[in-house]
Amino acid sequence: MENKIATPSGTKKILREYNLNLKKSLGQNFLIDSNIIDIITAASAIEGDEFVIEIGPGIGSLTQAVLEKLDEGKLLAVEKDAEMVRVLENIFAGEEKLTLLNQDALKIDWNEIAAEYNTENRKIKLIANLPYYVTTPIIMGVLESELELEQMVFMVQKEVGERICAGPETKKFGSLSVAVQYHMQPEIVHQVPSSVFIPQPDVDSVIVSLSPYEQNIYQEEVISKKFFFQIVKSIFQQRRKTLRNSLSKSAVINLDRDLVTQALEDEGIGIKKRGEKLSISEMISISNRIYKMRK
Ligand code: SAM
Repeated sequence: MENKIATPSGTKKILREYNLNLKKSLGQNFLIDSNIIDIITAASAIEGDEFVIEIGPGIGSLTQAVLEKLDEGKLLAVEKDAEMVRVLENIFAGEEKLTLLNQDALKIDWNEIAAEYNTENRKIKLIANLPYYVTTPIIMGVLESELELEQMVFMVQKEVGERICAGPETKKFGSLSVAVQYHMQPEIVHQVPSSVFIPQPDVDSVIVSLSPYEQNIYQEEVISKKFFFQIVKSIFQQRRKTLRNSLSKSAVINLDRDLVTQALEDEGIGIKKRGEKLSISEMISISNRIYKMRK
């Protein structure tokens, strides 16, 4: 393919040619600015021999750019809309590096996908520009899987991107920040105005890049992941409360007040401190201590 899809004329041409009616329910807003595409591919640092997973390829604006960067590598594009898949099959006919999968990314077992399609054990990278209401569950589904990602780059509603990247003592720090940062290191790499899409969405977006930690001390230190995330949920469900109250009056976990008081004292953390002021390491330390005290 010679013509760039990610331009106003390139996108309009495809929409006309295939007589496409865009589905708002699937968040079909297409990127028409090749600079943004370049920023996404640069953030993914594609070297050429990776196994790249793209979620939500649409009419292929990002797909096209990734294929240009791949030599030996493979691209697996997962698209829910069968109509889009037919368009992509046409546009990228004969492109051997590309596999199109007509599936709902929310329902995918990522471990199976890797076993089935990444047979050569290539480094895995993931890129996605998805409808905003499915981005978080899909990203979390991938992070919770056993996929070992070299890099993940996705577009997300600005507000959600800021929550993902937020640190302690900020208003946006919450369960989502901890859930993502527990697995990978997030960074906002670019602010994206709504004007770079057809049709224009109502909100501005950001590009978020997730990199693996050199050494993931969070995962190494947590004794029980399930218990840790119950503690995290309790802390942020009642974020205006003191740590002692949010833990001993939690709706997700039943903890004795005296035990909580003792645990906080042993940790050297004042019972009046608010949970949202804790770092992830401090949350892990408290969670481990309470977990051991309960046994
Ligand atoms: N990547 C293209 C771009 O940047 O121009 C299209 C992005 S568009 C915002 C989102 C795409 O994700 C649409 O093509 C839509 O059909 C697809 N999609 C929506 N929900 C999905 C899901 N659950 N699984 C896979 N694809 C989905």
